[in-house]
Amino acid sequence: MKRDIKVCKFGGTSVASSQQFKQIQHIVSLDNTRKIIVVSAPGKIADSQAKVTDLLYLLYEHIKYDTDYRHLLHQITDRFIEIKNNLGLSFDVKQYMSDLSKNLSKTVHRDWLVSRGEYLTAKLMSEFLGYTFLDSYQHIFVNYDKQIDYDKTESTMAKINVDHGIVMPGFYATTPNKDVTLLSRGGSDTTASIIAYALNVKAYENFTDVNGVYVTDPTIVKDAKIIPALNYSEIKELSYRGAKLFHQEAITPVAKRDIPIIIKNTNQPEEAGTIISSNASPKEHIVTAISGKKEFTIFNITKTGDEAKTKILQSIITIFMRHNIEIEHIPSGIDSFSVIVSHDQVDTSKFMIMSQLSELDGIERIDIEESLALIAVVGKNMAKTPGVAGKLFSALGNAKINIKVIAQSSTELSVIVGVDEPDYSDAITTIYHTFFE
Ligand code: ASP
Repeated sequence: MKRDIKVCKFGGTSVASSQQFKQIQHIVSLDNTRKIIVVSAPGKIADSQAKVTDLLYLLYEHIKYDTDYRHLLHQITDRFIEIKNNLGLSFDVKQYMSDLSKNLSKTVHRDWLVSRGEYLTAKLMSEFLGYTFLDSYQHIFVNYDKQIDYDKTESTMAKINVDHGIVMPGFYATTPNKDVTLLSRGGSDTTASIIAYALNVKAYENFTDVNGVYVTDPTIVKDAKIIPALNYSEIKELSYRGAKLFHQEAITPVAKRDIPIIIKNTNQPEEAGTIISSNASPKEHIVTAISGKKEFTIFNITKTGDEAKTKILQSIITIFMRHNIEIEHIPSGIDSFSVIVSHDQVDTSKFMIMSQLSELDGIERIDIEESLALIAVVGKNMAKTPGVAGKLFSALGNAKINIKVIAQSSTELSVIVGVDEPDYSDAITTIYHTFFE
């Protein structure tokens, strides 16, 4: 049975200043089931500010390369002092930072150091809200392969009394060797999701700086609408395909227990936001959302006519695997394959890969194209609905946008089109106007 409490996660911009802390206090006071608060480290509100996590990574690099780091330490300390002083808190930030600075040698543990951003934020937030501080170090566990240890986390969290409210830092966990380990960047979303799972709560509210999940990137389509509801597989696909709002790894834990995620704006909490659950799927649109990413590389490989297709494909894949490269798509023709990978994966290895591919038997030609953008048109309602792809292709055709790649899996959750990078924004805008107006 679900417990009548919520996990609320506040992201970097939501905890960036004492003003934002007050806004969080207001949000918590509106609903007495908001018992578990998970925080990121302060992000930036003004462009001149840096994210505390970035500063901590930089601090680590400075220590490692023996460079003067005092200015970084000051900058980090100042961010927390602003919060402490303006809210009249007693937690001694100066003392904590001075003790920390005594531990800064080349052997300092990187993940521990970087996790201090979330740790200090949670310390200050717990005092401010009058909630209990609970360190993720003693409550969130990963296995040796860095996968979440759900059983251990759940049994540990089960012992906690949350009735009077708790605050936990996001972004880090404990290894079986009892070291702090960071989750991937943006991982506070995941921490909150694991806690929501472990406590089997009624909802996971994710507070951020926008009113919900946009149908598409609002920096490209200015009047892009907010999606009122979508389901777990749609958000997973959207995040994977480039939407930045919610961490892809944070979906699985809550989806396992069918806990709804509600994305809300810290500064406009009265707005409904976006609800993500197992059954929510907006009925009025066939397409739920559009996301995309630039910077893909295509290896175009042509084989000789008489070489067996499957065998040569296997050898091609083996070469990419040897370089630890995640392949996005492999559209193929009768004598050709296009292997599509993200740019950063092959940045340093592409010439080596080209040369290894050219050594394979039966390869006729290889060339590389470097400026591909992939756009995903996502929607659960597209399945078994004829005409969606047709509408998409003719809209792009009418807008004179050349489609270089087409891919769709048999679940029909998304249609992927690849276009030249310079056409990316126009393609997104065209697709948006085709399906949402
Ligand atoms: N502070 C961490 C980051 O910047 C984690 C998070 O914000 O979720 O990646």
